[in-house]
Amino acid sequence: MKNIDCYFSEGYWGFINPESNQWQAIDLIPSGFKNAKEYLQSQFPDYAVEVHDLTQYLKLEECVRGKIYSLRSSNLDIGVFDGKNGFIGIRQKYNKRYLDVEYHYDALYGTAKPLKEIDVLPGWIDIKEHLGTICQRCGRPCKGIPGDQGYYAWEHIPWSKYVDYDESIIHINDLPKSAPFDFGDCKASPTGLNNKYLFDFLEEVSRGFS
Ligand SMILES: [Zn+2]
Repeated sequence: MKNIDCYFSEGYWGFINPESNQWQAIDLIPSGFKNAKEYLQSQFPDYAVEVHDLTQYLKLEECVRGKIYSLRSSNLDIGVFDGKNGFIGIRQKYNKRYLDVEYHYDALYGTAKPLKEIDVLPGWIDIKEHLGTICQRCGRPCKGIPGDQGYYAWEHIPWSKYVDYDESIIHINDLPKSAPFDFGDCKASPTGLNNKYLFDFLEEVSRGFS
């Protein structure tokens, strides 16, 4: 039997209509029904109505670093807790999918409510969006040197140093193979080296989850 996900939050009910696959609010529960669940069940007898009470969520201090939670949030369905106040998950924007952070509802500007623990991230995967900084022109690692007025000057650093940089574990093999070893006169232009290990793992988990 298929489920209908019905949500209860501060004073409102809503559900995802299985026919249109659209979010639908229940403004008024018709008389004769005790609650939204009973009402929905009568409207969709072929489905099992499952209520998610969004006033109930795991508090910030209950969340454990490295655990992956299902989330009710603006942009993420699931996310790994970073041990401070954020969840890193896969965000979809237009056709792009990338790692992004959303903060716990209890934290300042927080929008993510963890509902339940669904998996644990293996210890060898770093809990961060980026594993360091590479030059987007030539692909070599680079780092910022703080300069005047808070601006950074970016310069390339040797491959071997990259291993220590930002305490990243060894990800040298993932650097672009086309990157030239000749330092040449490339003007370093920084971009984050995406943490594809985390991305791939979260993608795998969300496949089993949704
Ligand atoms: Zn470069």
